[in-house]
Amino acid sequence: MRYYSTNHNSPLATLREAVVKGLASDRGLYMPENIKRLPEEFFNTIHTKSFTDIATTVAGAFFGEDVIPDELCRIVSDTLQFDCPVKHVSGNIYSLELFHGPTLAFKDVGARFMARLLQYFIRQDGNDDEVNVLVATSGDTGSAVANGFLGVEGIHVYVLYPKGKVSDIQESQFTTLGRNITAIEIDGTFDDCQALVKSAFTDKELNSRMKLTSANSINVARFLPQAFYYFNAYARMKEISAADNLVVCVPSGNFGNITAGLFAHKMGLPIKRFIAANNANDVFCQYLKTGKYMPRPSIQTVANAMDVGDPSNFARILDLYAGDHGKIAGLISGAAYTDSQIRRTMAECHAENGYILDPHGACGFRALSEMLDNDENGIFLETAHPAKFKSTVDKAIGSEVGIPERLAEFMKGKKQKTSMDTSFSSFKSFLMG
Ligand SMILES: *Cc1c(COP(=O)(O)O)cnc(C)c1O
Repeated sequence: MRYYSTNHNSPLATLREAVVKGLASDRGLYMPENIKRLPEEFFNTIHTKSFTDIATTVAGAFFGEDVIPDELCRIVSDTLQFDCPVKHVSGNIYSLELFHGPTLAFKDVGARFMARLLQYFIRQDGNDDEVNVLVATSGDTGSAVANGFLGVEGIHVYVLYPKGKVSDIQESQFTTLGRNITAIEIDGTFDDCQALVKSAFTDKELNSRMKLTSANSINVARFLPQAFYYFNAYARMKEISAADNLVVCVPSGNFGNITAGLFAHKMGLPIKRFIAANNANDVFCQYLKTGKYMPRPSIQTVANAMDVGDPSNFARILDLYAGDHGKIAGLISGAAYTDSQIRRTMAECHAENGYILDPHGACGFRALSEMLDNDENGIFLETAHPAKFKSTVDKAIGSEVGIPERLAEFMKGKKQKTSMDTSFSSFKSFLMG
């Protein structure tokens, strides 16, 4: 499979090139040339299949031409070491819990898959230049990527995060690992971190000196595997006869997750429509309303993994529908909530349904509560374990959410990080030094 750039101004790339480079040379995002439709038969029997079996079929459609089948199976089964259960929350609303992986957030799947795929390509090349993975994080990406890549030979990971804007638990998850993981605290916003990473990829001198790639959802190996979730969601809903008129609601920041869902839809997955749930950073909702995309600086909210003012994957969504605003707004609706609405939703959902939401999932649940029709079934992606945002959640629900063992382990480690300002020259000399 060849990959083209959303800016249509750089040569077609192989999967290997797209994964190793991350961003195309014209700063566009890579897109696969074809999106294969899966056969009717697959969807008819999908509810009888396991998450791993479903994911193996989907991975084959994406990567089957470029990765030896046995290896691809191994990568998929190594990635999916945990379950993504569907839980009934209230009425016709269900939660798909994507937080049972190593760092308790949905990015674990994409991160681990990318680490394994990159390792496969590095081994194939047989040269021993170290690959440097740069990742900007507003919280959860850093921990998922750091843990997905921890100890993977031949790869060094640099995590850039905004100082004071990630939770204590999140920070512990990527600053305590050591080994091939370096954490860099930037005195700025998430958008500043993302801009530094993007500048690094287009800096000629830096790229001639070291091999750089991105593990943000701009990387095809990170975001495409998230499509597995949507197929599994449909399968598990079909298993309980709740898959008719299925509406999927996705708490969104950089829009990688929902874009993977749109790919699943193009592959024939019977999802009726999507809802993108935002916090106060609502540039996508504004686009749906006005047809104009007006990125702006992000603002800090209690759902910090969605504090994104210029979502990278917007370019992919436009590309999928040839820039047709009518089509995009016909398939996706938007909803945006303030911090106080998010807090109230966590409190109400806990009191009324006994279900503890994290601040991101709360946006998803609320959007479905407000926008789902009676003849539809709704599923929202619960993107993080509520304990990752313990202080916010505890205050909202008025009781203590338990900390899973895995999370408690991270809290015991010693934090190690390098501090930096937002200038590219400091970052560049650090990398080259
Ligand atoms: C990353 C993240 C999101 C947003 O996902 P995108 O793919 O960036 O849209 C939502 N919730 C949580 C908990 C996250 O970590």
